[in-house]
Amino acid sequence: MIQLEALYKISYGLYIVTSGDRNQGNGFVSNTVFQVTSQPQRFAVCCNKDNYSASFIQQFKAFAVSILAQDTSAELIGKFGYKSGREMNKMTDVKVIFKETNVPIVLDGSLAFFECKLVDVFDVGTHWIFIGELVSAEIVDDTGQPLTYAYYREVKKGFSPKNAPTYIDQSKIETKTENAMSKKFKCPICGYIYDEAEEKVKFSDLPDDWVCPVCGSEKSEFIEIS
Ligand code: FE
Repeated sequence: MIQLEALYKISYGLYIVTSGDRNQGNGFVSNTVFQVTSQPQRFAVCCNKDNYSASFIQQFKAFAVSILAQDTSAELIGKFGYKSGREMNKMTDVKVIFKETNVPIVLDGSLAFFECKLVDVFDVGTHWIFIGELVSAEIVDDTGQPLTYAYYREVKKGFSPKNAPTYIDQSKIETKTENAMSKKFKCPICGYIYDEAEEKVKFSDLPDDWVCPVCGSEKSEFIEIS
């Protein structure tokens, strides 16, 4: 038996992983960032081979990790988590700084950051695991709480995008019996579901400027699902 909900009990943080230089950069939201050794201080980052950022990390041989705060905006997660750098410059309108490796480091929504030089790459099928050695690390905001994937999923009702190693097809999760009169509306960008059975306001009564709480997509983009 494989009960997919069991996998939600694994704890993860949420991070923006970036690479590039002062002229060009890209990044993505990752929940698979972890320290693998302390001597030397090495970190692993898992990245889908289709991610535009994968080519940046391989080209620039370095990456930065911004550790996101619980109150990180839906727009920032939407931009880095659900959109591709092939279609837009993600670094526009985002506060970035450059340190030792010269890769852009995102400060928006960040409690802290660290940067690594790339020392190894492992092919794990759909994804690369990049291994980096720590070059610098700094606190940005010492007051906030780090955003965990559990908090993001439970409180912000976000789901992993398709390219994430932890992506679970929501149609495979059994749903409880629901009020037949209530409707559900799905965000086509991030998969967030507005379920009238759980909300106090009918979807049609939400203001026109209401946006997806996870990725910031407009109300008009939502699709009714059965
Ligand atoms: Fe969304």
